[in-house]
Amino acid sequence: AAKRAGKGTFRLFTPATAEDPRARLELETGLRRALDEDEFELYFQPVVDTVTGRTVGAEALVRWNSADGIVTPLRFVPVAEETGLIVPLGAWVLEEACRQTRAWALAHPEREPLRINVNLSAVQFSRPNIVAEVADTLLRTDLPPEQLCLEITETGLMADTELTIATLRELKALGVRVAIDDFGTGYSSLSYLQRFPVDVVKVDQAFTAGLGRSQVDSEIVAAVVRLAAACGITVVAEGVETVEQRRALVDLGCPLIQGYLIARPLPAGQFEDLWLARPDGRPAGQRDQQRQP
Ligand code: C2E
Ligand code: MG
Ligand code: MG
Ligand code: MG
Repeated sequence: AAKRAGKGTFRLFTPATAEDPRARLELETGLRRALDEDEFELYFQPVVDTVTGRTVGAEALVRWNSADGIVTPLRFVPVAEETGLIVPLGAWVLEEACRQTRAWALAHPEREPLRINVNLSAVQFSRPNIVAEVADTLLRTDLPPEQLCLEITETGLMADTELTIATLRELKALGVRVAIDDFGTGYSSLSYLQRFPVDVVKVDQAFTAGLGRSQVDSEIVAAVVRLAAACGITVVAEGVETVEQRRALVDLGCPLIQGYLIARPLPAGQFEDLWLARPDGRPAGQRDQQRQP
């Protein structure tokens, strides 16, 4: 990631754990102030149906508008997790994502309501009152539970299997959906798809990058798509950057994609414009016959 970000932003991608304690403390202090002063903002990246091209949802991704510019979550989320600041930050992200998604549904009743994906840190997920917090947020924001999908990384699900499964069941009982994020990056096993009660699996962008270049990556994606379908789980391929990757994913039967090819994560206003300019998730014939260009 550091290489791709370019020279000017290299510093922002330095793993926080590799830093000297002073720089870390500065970051921690900055994060606390940022929370107080509302310096966080949500960006939204569309999730698109591979067959119809329709935008069915979005992933909410947090950004920090600091005095030194926009800071990536790759840099501050790990520090927020280590310091516990991820709890108030994560609560803000969840509330803001639900509030915005509800506001979009009310402002555009002619559109199919968006599904919103919110990243939940393992630190948040393992807190005893997480289910009540999610339930309260849904009530406060008036968002129908089926519009919310919580993304938890594969490694985040592995800490305590029994407790994880119990929590996932409770979240599902609320009516929210759950996704395994970054699938394939941890010590994953395809059997997790059967063991954990999840609705969505997000194939990590490393595998998407290998499509058409690595036979093994293509076979892994094919296997995940097949097994997920057999388990009644839907699949999102992350990090789709090229038309070749999209074509390979269509050929493999991957139902949903997300990536720079469709759009980068966008500020709320820009995302809304893009969402309205393109066909949405409503089945063809129900509102129009428009096709993706
Ligand atoms: P993630 O949840 O796996 O999110 C996907 C990341 O891939 C995002 O990075 C997104 O901008 C990036 N991405 C999307 N399409 C492409 C593409 O085509 N090519 C490439 N190279 N990258 C693409 P971002 O926004 O920097 O977020 C990084 C990670 O930070 C996220 O990975 C997630 O683990 C974490 N994160 C972001 N927002 C939150 C949040 O609100 N809460 C928590 N707990 N973690 C968050
Ligand atoms: Mg995610
Ligand atoms: Mg991911
Ligand atoms: Mg990731």
